[in-house]
Amino acid sequence: MTPRRAREAIQEARYTRPAVASPPEALAHAQLEWDTPLYRMAVAQFDQAVPVAGIPDDIAERLRYPERSTIVSIPVRMDTGRRVVFPGYRVQHSSIIGPTKGGIRYDANVTLGECAALAMWMTWKCALLRLPYGGAKGGVRCDPRSLSIGELERLTRRFTSELLPVIGPKEDIPAPDMATNEQTMAWMMDTYSMQRGFAVPEIVTGKPISIGGSVFRHEATGAGVVMVASRACDRLGLSLAEQRCVVQGFGNVGGIASQELHDRGASVTAVSDVSGGLHSEDGLDIPSLLEYVREHGSLEGCAAGRRLTNEELLETECDILVLAAREDQITEDNAPRIHARMIVEGANGPTSLEADGVLWEREIPVLPDILTNAGGVTVSYFEWVQDLGRIFWTRDEIRAKLELMLSDAFDRVWDLAEEHTVPLRTGALVAGIREVSDALEARGIFP
Ligand code: GLU
Repeated sequence: MTPRRAREAIQEARYTRPAVASPPEALAHAQLEWDTPLYRMAVAQFDQAVPVAGIPDDIAERLRYPERSTIVSIPVRMDTGRRVVFPGYRVQHSSIIGPTKGGIRYDANVTLGECAALAMWMTWKCALLRLPYGGAKGGVRCDPRSLSIGELERLTRRFTSELLPVIGPKEDIPAPDMATNEQTMAWMMDTYSMQRGFAVPEIVTGKPISIGGSVFRHEATGAGVVMVASRACDRLGLSLAEQRCVVQGFGNVGGIASQELHDRGASVTAVSDVSGGLHSEDGLDIPSLLEYVREHGSLEGCAAGRRLTNEELLETECDILVLAAREDQITEDNAPRIHARMIVEGANGPTSLEADGVLWEREIPVLPDILTNAGGVTVSYFEWVQDLGRIFWTRDEIRAKLELMLSDAFDRVWDLAEEHTVPLRTGALVAGIREVSDALEARGIFP
């Protein structure tokens, strides 16, 4: 596919609904339930990949929609004594290959449609890595920074109990995502276990190590991002240690990725978090910035470099730009002003469909989210297997297994992209979609 044709395909996918086997009215109403920009983007990416994947129409039509969407309302007693009701969601996109898997996020932008998009990406991500899972995602619409620890605990416990009918170690296994962490997972595991009457560590992943968590889960996503970037450098004949990197996001993904880059000898010249960014042409001292954030909660007030805004950071000249903050960061507007030689997606959905077209034309490779941040769910899978089997592996064993699985997925994606002359994102989607389609064809659509 030439860049021009790819761009046209993107426009077509965006504006026209592809011909499908079932009558268009069948799900026209249901599509509205999830209709948000992010869900439209996930479906448009899927529609771009389907012709390359070459899967049957009726299978494609089934995979365009999540299997089950749950909406709950969560009453929480605030510290003031007042009760506030928060909306919560869990969307399970596909259970064809195994239980559904995916994070729980606490964020002001959480909607059913956002969870549906993220759940669909989880399906392709798990299938690409050949994990025996389908995709899910959930969350609560709230401002997590304004909630106290006690409020977060009550919210998490009530949310978990509202989800009891749809989650389980063989049904759907939550994990951390934006603004949730080991503690959130501990509350979820405890709430679920209290209902069952015994400890069920395998109900969630990303737990504290003391209750069955993996010794490498906390670092897994950020470390995996750098493993994939390093593999890409090898393929392009570059040395990772010689790259100048800019990292957007300095939390669990961006912070760890920065540390890994720094450890491998690369120079990290700019980083940012919600409070803005810091830049130093000579390279930032990442360990001391992480120490600063541990002490102060964010980069706010840190004088270790020149301050810059998140927008400026994205347009900073560099070799590798790691996007590890949130969705919708590179758009049609700023894509022409990106001065990176490679984009690495640590967050889910940070590059818009239109931006993908611009970057493809500008020949800037984008290492796509469903490949690049898959280290998190891969180590989640190891954690779940270890909990089920009650056996535990060492850090080095886990790290080595992760590197093997990410490298294998990377090579398949790279080869597919080369074979079809499509962006790496399409290559990754094609690999994932084919796995799920083969499984659905083998099982058949019930009844
Ligand atoms: N929330 C992470 C993701 O987007 C991890 C999901 C998991 O570990 O299940 O991939």
